[in-house]
Amino acid sequence: MSEFCPEVWPEDPVPSCQTDCQECGLYRQGSRMIWGEGNPKAPIMIILDNPGAREDRKGNPMVCGTRQTLQQAMHEAGLTKKQLYVTYILKRQPVRAYDKEKTRAICMQHLLEQLAEQNPKLIVCLGNVAVQAFFRNSELDVKGLRGKSHLVGEHTVTAAYHPLAARRRPNLYPLLREDMQFVAARIREIN
Ligand code: SF4
Repeated sequence: MSEFCPEVWPEDPVPSCQTDCQECGLYRQGSRMIWGEGNPKAPIMIILDNPGAREDRKGNPMVCGTRQTLQQAMHEAGLTKKQLYVTYILKRQPVRAYDKEKTRAICMQHLLEQLAEQNPKLIVCLGNVAVQAFFRNSELDVKGLRGKSHLVGEHTVTAAYHPLAARRRPNLYPLLREDMQFVAARIREIN
């Protein structure tokens, strides 16, 4: 692995009209709303299931394990920070049990607004939760979709392993890197 140091990416602020969103009830669990991070004008939009921690217990900015592994794989695939924007199916991190299907369906409205506004050239869903929510099909998985482009509405979408899965099962890391290499090649073609 090449020498690489993960870093805190700039957070994309929540639009003022959305900061008090209480639509699905998840706000009661107390986690703050995170709209996204990285370059909002990037050609590639990465979609995770939900945000991880961005601050440690003392409130200092930190890069969680998921983002460390994601940034590492992107770096090894030759992708740059400027090319990437990361967002989530759920804009808040759940901390207790919740109605997954209903909550995802409600919060997805925010993602649809982001897509309409940002219009990325390529979308990458990381992990089965993001895949199933975004494709609206609970039978799909990363394994079946990775390494290819798919059309969802007018959007070009691919899938990749979740960085946390690759962290927990190191044999998956080379596959995540391969997924990011596919993303890098695809965006070069699109451009
Ligand atoms: S999870 Fe999404 S829909 Fe639910 S309260 Fe938070 S921002 Fe609103």
